[in-house]
Amino acid sequence: MTIGIVGAGQLGRMLALAGYPLGLDFLCLDPAGDAPAGQVAPLLTGAFTDRALLAELARRCAVVTFDWENVPVGSLRAMKRGAHGVRIAPSVAALECGQDRVSEKRLFERLSIPTTRWRAVDSRAGLDAAIAAVGLPGVLKTRRLGYDGKGQALLRRRADAHQAWERLGAAPLLYEEWVPFDCEVSVIGARGARDEVVIYPLCGNVHGAGILRVTCAPYGPRSWHEQAGRYLRRVLAHFRYRGILTIEFFVRGGRLIANEMAPRVHNSGHWTIEGAATSQFENHLRAILGLPLGATRALGHSAMINLIGRIPPRARLLALEGVHLHDYGKQPRPGRKVGHCTLVEPTAALRNARARRLAAKLAAGVRIP
Ligand code: AMP
Repeated sequence: MTIGIVGAGQLGRMLALAGYPLGLDFLCLDPAGDAPAGQVAPLLTGAFTDRALLAELARRCAVVTFDWENVPVGSLRAMKRGAHGVRIAPSVAALECGQDRVSEKRLFERLSIPTTRWRAVDSRAGLDAAIAAVGLPGVLKTRRLGYDGKGQALLRRRADAHQAWERLGAAPLLYEEWVPFDCEVSVIGARGARDEVVIYPLCGNVHGAGILRVTCAPYGPRSWHEQAGRYLRRVLAHFRYRGILTIEFFVRGGRLIANEMAPRVHNSGHWTIEGAATSQFENHLRAILGLPLGATRALGHSAMINLIGRIPPRARLLALEGVHLHDYGKQPRPGRKVGHCTLVEPTAALRNARARRLAAKLAAGVRIP
C-alpha cells in the first residue's frame, strides 16, 4: 500500500522510515529535487500546485497526508475531488485553520482553550488600536507562513510600532500580548478511525531565536499533562481528526496558554522515535490508515536536541554514550534544522546531566528544562 506525502522534508522522511517496517510504501511530492524524504522514498519533483503531479499522487496512493503546514489547501481539495478521489488525512479543514493565526485563535476561543489576548491587524492605525487594546510588550506576527519565529517582531515600546510595521506591514498581521512564560510545553496525540485517542507524555520545549532547540519528555506535573490532554481532545473531536496533532502552550503560574497548533507530526515529538513505545510517526501512519493506535508511554526520560546549521562530526557525537543521531540529509545553512540527537535515560537526573553535556557541545547557551 502506498502513502502519498505532500512535502518531502525531514518529517516526511521520518514518516517513511517509520512506515517501512509496517510494509508500507511512500510517494512524495516536493519542489526540491534533493528534499530529505526524496532521499529515502520515490519523489515527484514539482510545485505543490502542479495539477498533473497532484493527479498522479492521487492515482498512485491509497491515502495522502502532508508534512508541511503551508501546503496549499486548494491542491489537497483538488486531489480529493479529482477523478481518483483520494482520501486526505488529517482533515484539510484542520490544515486550513492552522495556516492562519487568526483562525487558530478563534478556534481556541470557541473551544474554551485559553490563549493570548490578540487583535487582527490590517493597517497602521489598526496596529495602534491593537496596541491600545492588548498592551505592551507584545508580538506582531504575520497571520500566514510564519514558522520558527520568522515573520515576528517584538514591540517593547509604542515607538517600536513604526519599525515593526515597516518590516511586516505588507502582509495581514496579528498582534498579541507578550507572555513572560515560566516554560513552554507541547502536547502531541493521535486520533484514529474509531475516534480513539492516544496522547504522549507532555514535552518541555526550549526555543532560541524562535527555533526549537531542546525538548525533554516526560515533562511537568501530572496536572499540566491532563489539562493539555483535555484541550487536545477538544481540537481532535472538533475536526473529527485522523492522525497526529500538536498544540504548543506557554505555561505561566501553572496555567496553560495555547500558542499554536500543528496538524501534523511535530519537532517536539522526535524523542518518541527512541523514547516512546510507539513513535509519533508510526502512530500518524496507523491513525490515517485506520490501524490500531500504538502505546504512547515513555520508555524512560528523553532529551532531544536539534542540530541547527550543520551536522557536527558524526564520530564525535556517536562517541557519547546513548546518543542517537538523525541526519536529515540537508545542505548546511545557518539557522536550518539539519538533524537531531536523542538521549533516553532511566531517570530525569541522569537525562538532565547527559543532556547538559551534549547541549554544551551542540547548542551553546541553551538551557535544559
Ligand atoms: P511561534 O512561531 O508563534 O510558535 O513563536 C515561536 C517562539 O517565539 C515561541 O515558541 C516562543 O518562544 C516565542 N513567542 C512567540 N510568541 C510569543 C508570545 N506572545 N509571548 C512570548 N513568547 C512568544
